[in-house]
Amino acid sequence: GQGDVHGEVVVLGSGPGGYSAAFRAADLGKKVVLIERYPSLGGVCLNVGCIPSKAMLHAAKVLTETEEMGAHGISFSKPKIDLDGLRDWKDGVVKQLTGGLAGLAKQRKVEVVQGMGKFTGPNMIEVDTGDGTRTVSFDQCIIAAGSEPVKLPFVPHDDERVVDSTGALELRDIPKKMLVLGGGIIGLEMACIYDALGSSITVVELQEQLMPGADKDIVKPLATRIGKRYDNIYLKTKVTNVEPQKKGLKVTFEDDKGETFTDTFDRILVSVGRVPNGAKLDAEKAGVAVDERGFIHVDHQQRTGQSHIFAIGDLVGQPMLAHKAVHEGKVAAEVASGHKRAFDAKVIPSVAYTDPEVAWAGLTETEAKKQGVKYQKGVFPWAASGRSLSLGRSEGVTKLLFDPDDDRVIGVGMVGPAAGDLIAEVALAIEMGSDAVDLSHTIHPHPTLSETVNFAAEMYEGTITDLM
Ligand code: FAD
Repeated sequence: GQGDVHGEVVVLGSGPGGYSAAFRAADLGKKVVLIERYPSLGGVCLNVGCIPSKAMLHAAKVLTETEEMGAHGISFSKPKIDLDGLRDWKDGVVKQLTGGLAGLAKQRKVEVVQGMGKFTGPNMIEVDTGDGTRTVSFDQCIIAAGSEPVKLPFVPHDDERVVDSTGALELRDIPKKMLVLGGGIIGLEMACIYDALGSSITVVELQEQLMPGADKDIVKPLATRIGKRYDNIYLKTKVTNVEPQKKGLKVTFEDDKGETFTDTFDRILVSVGRVPNGAKLDAEKAGVAVDERGFIHVDHQQRTGQSHIFAIGDLVGQPMLAHKAVHEGKVAAEVASGHKRAFDAKVIPSVAYTDPEVAWAGLTETEAKKQGVKYQKGVFPWAASGRSLSLGRSEGVTKLLFDPDDDRVIGVGMVGPAAGDLIAEVALAIEMGSDAVDLSHTIHPHPTLSETVNFAAEMYEGTITDLM
C-alpha cells in the first residue's frame, strides 16, 4: 500500500491511554507510530467525554450558583443563554487540548497515521485511511481502542431526538423535557448540565439507587438535591418501550412491582454504560483473545496472551476512567521499553462532577460488608464545616474507612462541592499506607473543605474537639 511504515512500538488509538503510552515509549527512545481513526487526537476523553462535559458543568455551576445567591441577598436577572457562544467556548477548550497533543506528538517524533486500523497478523496492522490502505508493521503493539456507548434494542437510536453523551454534548438545542435513561455518572452529569440550562429532567434507573458503585449515604445528598430540582427520579424502574410520535417520544416504564406507566419527552439521553471496541479490531488475526463482551484480558504488566501485544484503558475492563487508562498506558509503554514496571495501584478514584460532586476511592462500605472486611469509620458532616457553610452549602459528607487493627485508612467516600479534587489526598494516604494519626496530625489549612478529611480522622479516633 501507499507509504508502509514500521514502528518499534505501535499504539492503536489515541485516547488518554494511547497518547500516554505513545509519548512515554517515545521518551524512552522507541520509534513510535500512533494510529487514530479521527483527525483529532485525544479519544473520547478530550473530544466527547471528560473535557467538554467539564466545560459544560462549569457553565451549569455558574448558572445554578447565581440563581441560588438570590436566597442570600444577591439577585441576577434571568441569564441569556447564547448556545452558539457556549458551544464555541466548549469546542475551543477541546481544540486547545487536542491541538496541544498533536504538538507533543510532533516534538517526540511520534508518527501519527490517520485511519481505522485492523490486525492482519501477529506483527501487522492495516489502516484504512479513507483513500487507500497503509500497512503498519510493529515489533510491539499497545491496543488502546477504547469504548463506545451501549445502544438499547427497544430504543429508536436512529431518531434524532434520541442521543448518547456525544449527541448531548453537541448542544444542538435545549430540550423542554428530557429523559435521562441510566442514572450513572455520565447520565447524572448530563442531567446536571441540561437542568441548569433550563430543561425539565426525568431520570430513570434500574437499580435501587443512583450511581450504583458508590455507597448510598454518599449519593444521598446529591439524590436529595436533584430530587427537588428535577421532575422525577424513578428508581428500580426500567424503560420497556420507546415509541416515536410527532409530538414526542412516548416512553413506557415498568417499576419493580410490574406496574407500567407512560410519559412523553422531546429528548432521550441514553446513558446505560459503554462497550469496549475490542470486537472490531480483528485481534484474533494477531492471536489476541477478545471475550464475548469485547474486552481484552491482560496481566499485571498489561500484556495480552501475546507477550509483544499489550492492551490498556476502557478496552481492558472497569472502571472505564481516563486516569486509569493513562496509568495503564505508562505501565505498558515502560514494560514494552524493557523497564520493570507493573500495575500495582491500590486505588483508582471515581468522581462524578455533578453538583454536589460525588467521589470515592478504595473500599466502599458496601464492598467491605459484602467481602466481610472488618472496618470502622469516621464520618464528618460538612454542615459543621465553616468553609462549606460560607459557600452556601451544608449537605456534604466526608467518610473514611479504617482497618480497626492498625488504624490504616482503606477507603473514602465524599460528597460536596469540589469532592473530586479533595479525594486525591486520601488516595495518596491509602497508597502510602497512612493511618488515622497521619491524617489527624497533618495540619490542614483553615477554613478549607480539606479539613473535613482531618476531622473525619478525628471522628474515628474520638478526639475531635471543635466542629467548625
Ligand atoms: P478512548 O478515549 O475511548 O480512545 C480510543 C481511541 O481509539 C478513539 O480516539 C478511537 O477513535 C480510537 N480507535 C478505536 N478503534 C480504532 C481503530 N480500529 N483504529 C484507529 N483508531 C481507533 N473519565 C474520567 O476519568 N473522568 C471524567 O470526567 C470522564 N468523563 C466522561 C464523560 C463522558 C461523557 C464520557 C463518554 C466518558 C467520560 N470519561 C471520564 C471516561 C473516559 O472518557 C474514558 O475512560 C477514556 O477516554 C478511556 O480512554 P482510552 O484511552 O481507553 O480510550
